[in-house]
Amino acid sequence: VATPDGTPQRRRVGVMGGTFDPIHHGHLVAASEVAARYGLDEVVFVPTGRPRLKTHVVVTAPEHRYLMTVIATASNPQFTVSRVDLERAGDTYTVDTLRDLHAERPDADLYFITGADAIAQILSWKDADELFALARFVAVTRPGHALSVAGLPADRVSVLEIPALSISSTDVRQRVSSGLPAWYLVPDGVVQHIAKYRLYRGSDE
Ligand code: ATP
Ligand code: MG
Repeated sequence: VATPDGTPQRRRVGVMGGTFDPIHHGHLVAASEVAARYGLDEVVFVPTGRPRLKTHVVVTAPEHRYLMTVIATASNPQFTVSRVDLERAGDTYTVDTLRDLHAERPDADLYFITGADAIAQILSWKDADELFALARFVAVTRPGHALSVAGLPADRVSVLEIPALSISSTDVRQRVSSGLPAWYLVPDGVVQHIAKYRLYRGSDE
């Protein structure tokens, strides 16, 4: 695809990082909304390896989190799932995720998608300056979390209001653990995967 002046149009690729333990409709709406508003060609979901900020909690086996992410995104032709964070040893840092995706897709402009809670922590992330060179950041609204991008580079960070879904993976895990339904909070196939492998049955956190 070329622009009117003949320069090739760069692909726009969203990057949705998360623990996805499990993936839920809040994640999917965020990705879908950013894709539509920013004209993205693709959104890559990237399940974390070992999440740096969650070392105090037990995180479900990476393969289950990966499989649930594949199941949840399979029906959307724009959504893909990357294993880069699962295959890198050690803790997951977003800067490594973006370096790997940039190396895989050098022709693409990357748009890293975060919720309001995650963007608030970004200045504490490893190599914060390089993050903004590797990707634009789109911070989406999330119920229960104030959205502020103060102190972040205005030319690389934008905010987007999305339909409010008050869903968290923590809540889904606790619901399953106490016998409450997860239907309609996560895609049907994810409900079925959780039941099939009896995930989240033990005491959570
Ligand atoms: P947990 O409760 O285990 O922390 P979570 O629901 O916060 O899970 P994560 O995998 O931690 O999900 O989040 C991945 C990304 O998705 C983060 O940027 C987070 O802010 C964003 N996100 C998660 N849930 C929502 C939601 N309901 N609305 C908007 N953004 C969300
Ligand atoms: Mg979270």
